[in-house]
Amino acid sequence: IQSKLPGVSTTIFTVMSKLAAEHNAINLSQGFPDYACDPKLVELVNQAMQDGYNQYAPMPGATFLKETIAAKVENLYKVKYNPDTEITVTAGGTQAIFTALAAIISAGDEVIIFEPAYDSYAPTIKLLGGLVKTYELAPPGYAIDWDMVKKLFTARTRMIILNSPQNPTGSILSADDMKALIKLVSGTDILILSDEVYEHLIYDGQQHQSVMLYPELKQRSFIVASFGKLLHATGWKLGYCLAPEKLTKEFRKVHQFNVFSVNSPMQQAIATYLQTPANYTGIAAFFQEKRDYFRSLLAESRLELLPCNGSYFQCASYRNISDEKDTDFSMRLIKEFGVATIPVSAFYQKGTDHKIIRFCFAKEHETLALAAEKLKNI
Ligand code: PMP
Ligand code: GLN
Repeated sequence: IQSKLPGVSTTIFTVMSKLAAEHNAINLSQGFPDYACDPKLVELVNQAMQDGYNQYAPMPGATFLKETIAAKVENLYKVKYNPDTEITVTAGGTQAIFTALAAIISAGDEVIIFEPAYDSYAPTIKLLGGLVKTYELAPPGYAIDWDMVKKLFTARTRMIILNSPQNPTGSILSADDMKALIKLVSGTDILILSDEVYEHLIYDGQQHQSVMLYPELKQRSFIVASFGKLLHATGWKLGYCLAPEKLTKEFRKVHQFNVFSVNSPMQQAIATYLQTPANYTGIAAFFQEKRDYFRSLLAESRLELLPCNGSYFQCASYRNISDEKDTDFSMRLIKEFGVATIPVSAFYQKGTDHKIIRFCFAKEHETLALAAEKLKNI
């Protein structure tokens, strides 16, 4: 069979979690919490099933949930999205990304991405016949020089993918970044796919710079969010896409033939849970405490910590320890030290190796302490 994605193998998250299990290593690789989500949420799902929410939800999402999302967005950002025409509930962020790209990208269209990048972007673009135009960012700050972005523009540039807070680097976009971006796209018909799944995980009092805060960007953007991160329930695979009506219309044309609709009782449960704003406002402080704890533990190792302004990922350089490739180094960490991480080269299509590994700190303190103890002597 002729592969549509010849260069693509199994995603790094599956590979590393499997290796972690095989070697009985502490798994700080794939991003997911090792503690339970709020038991109230589980009760609410049970309740919704007992209440009879066991058949197809409406194609764009349950009305109750879409209205709740609109209220949450307005509460946090003072921006309005119409639940009927501008909000679609999806099977997680990954499906929303796939669907937005499929709705817009045709053969030959170019999409600009910033690497290191979440690993679904490039293969999805290629699957659709699009061309990936990559801007490689470099440690430690992974800052974007917007004049360099402009150099990537051609007549075929159709979309730019943003991801702030960023996976895997934990970097965030500033208000100045957004202003520079506005200058670049004004007067063009370039669209934006803004992956904001870590919107709530932003630290030290910094404000999340959502594209929705800037009308020039909002009107051309699909914004992707994930309840997996917000509710500590990555396995629920629920999220949503915000986009102006003309974009949502195209999004739903694909969504209806991709999944049609998503898990019905969980949509009810999430909507009920989010009626209480305290259930979504404390999350930055919760993770900041974990970040600070993990950083203080790793300070005792020879790893060099990179800045972490957002997300639940901490990157570290091992250049003072070894000059092995990051894939070899992370393999050795699993086998010899019993800790699984992600080699950041996996987030570059060319496999660029800056000798950096990524840790997920969405874990119990006990787990983080055990891992740090093992890493002390590397
Ligand atoms: N975007 C980024 C940057 C992610 O890290 C992830 C996964 N955690 C997703 C999208 C996908 O989210 P979901 O698990 O809801 O599909
Ligand atoms: N986003 C998570 C991570 O970066 C995992 C996503 C996945 O497993 N597909 O680790």
